[in-house]
Amino acid sequence: MTHHSQTIVPEHLANFLAPTSLYIDGKWQDGAGVFPVYNPADGSVVAEVANCTADHAKAALDAADRAQLSWRKLAPRKRANLMHAAHRLMLEREDAFVRVMTLESGKPLTEARAEFHLSADFLLWFAEQVAHLHGTYSSSSDGGFRIVVAHQPVGPCLLITPWNFPLLMIVRKAGAALAAGCTTITKTAQETPLTGALFTQVLHDAGFPAGVANLLHTQTSAAVSDTLLQDPRLRKVSFTGSTRVGAHLMKLGAENIVNSSMELGGDGPFIVLDDANVDLAVDQAIICKFRNAGQACVAANRIIVDRRVESEFTQKFLSKVKALKVGNGLEAVDVGPMISAKQRDRLYDTISDLTRAGGQILTGGRAVQSPGYFFEPTVIRFDSPNQVMCSNELFAPIATIFAVDGVAEALSFANDSKFGLASYVFTNDLTRAIAIGEELEFGMVGINRGIMADPAAPFGGTKASGTGREAGHEGIYEFLESKYMAVTVGEPNEVLR
Ligand code: NAD
Repeated sequence: MTHHSQTIVPEHLANFLAPTSLYIDGKWQDGAGVFPVYNPADGSVVAEVANCTADHAKAALDAADRAQLSWRKLAPRKRANLMHAAHRLMLEREDAFVRVMTLESGKPLTEARAEFHLSADFLLWFAEQVAHLHGTYSSSSDGGFRIVVAHQPVGPCLLITPWNFPLLMIVRKAGAALAAGCTTITKTAQETPLTGALFTQVLHDAGFPAGVANLLHTQTSAAVSDTLLQDPRLRKVSFTGSTRVGAHLMKLGAENIVNSSMELGGDGPFIVLDDANVDLAVDQAIICKFRNAGQACVAANRIIVDRRVESEFTQKFLSKVKALKVGNGLEAVDVGPMISAKQRDRLYDTISDLTRAGGQILTGGRAVQSPGYFFEPTVIRFDSPNQVMCSNELFAPIATIFAVDGVAEALSFANDSKFGLASYVFTNDLTRAIAIGEELEFGMVGINRGIMADPAAPFGGTKASGTGREAGHEGIYEFLESKYMAVTVGEPNEVLR
């Protein structure tokens, strides 16, 4: 692998260096100065990466626009072959990806490895989809002509991704866009640019043509979004991040009617009914809440438990939370740091808001004394549903438990939210599970499971959680437009003579 870097990574990490430049038109290039990337586990500087300006963003779009036609026309088999080659290279570089993800995002190595494998599976899924994009041929309703529908790439896409799943979020967007025949400009999160750089190096080494996949890092996101979303050559923005920024990007793109897919915030209700397997619910709640130190859009945000099993659930959950080991993700730990000091420090206000609203702290509640940005795994119990946690995304290792009286109360509390991303229900009665699943106003419902992401499943939300779906059979169509051709056909007895 080629390295282009001014990194200041310690000697023992030298094998895991990622490029630190911008990638535009098939070449690694300098930006206008650099900015630091921090290790949230100890506050040290992992690397300095190139900072792009509006001019770099424009150069990336120039390249993506130039490459678009030939990328679209490349035979599907050749496009798929490139994606398969990238998949194989990714697998060869597993350790580099895993270590870099842990260094810049703080997540434990085991979680980074799980994210790596899931991301590779997504890339494979999209590589396989290239060869399965069908059109249709049918008759008009009066039988007078034929309807031919093909699917064509939308055009150059801007992909903006967050830091919490630095690889998965990029692969899920870029994989679909590239498979569909779109060229891409990926903007990494400034906290985690190196993972995106490793993935881009994979695409480069696999032989993707110049201009097809570009990569930008920046400290001033507006330099990219304001420049690109108002340029009519950009045809699509796919964003994962907060609802506030998603709404802002939709406004920016409104003038040019830029096609947009938005994966935004969530406040996942996690419902445990009186007939649930409580041990299973506890195990899944631990993963669903504390994975990535709670910094996941699909995290269990409100754990809603039928009063008849609430005491048993809370006791078992509490003892598992108390056993969680917090520390540097490079060591054998269960919970890593928050992404930044700012994200950790906002939790003091969160804790006081929750206790003022009547929540009782059962464990945790404070930051860990350390140069890293750690916060104690925390459990806060409410004796009944409470508005304070509706539309309030914690994004932290803080679990809130609410005792409720029966299914109706659980369901109405769960739906009392502006968000609609992931929800969960635990019950041993499948008929009841399906009935509740149909009533939950969320894009995804986990039934007796707390983890749902899969390449074969459509990921996404309703209401303020976004528009569009990623992966599954649906995901690739976010990057394709239907082209309808109306075809006049001759009368059989005239043309078939
Ligand atoms: P964020 O919205 O602040 O940042 C996300 C990305 O947007 C980053 O790359 C950031 O640099 C960029 N950004 C910020 N302002 C921008 C602007 N004006 N123009 C262009 N880009 C801009 O969110 P975050 O703090 O990184 O992530 C947390 C949020 O993301 C949470 O609300 C979480 O639920 C959500 N999220 C959603 C999903 C999902 O799939 N639905 C997945 C992960 C995270």
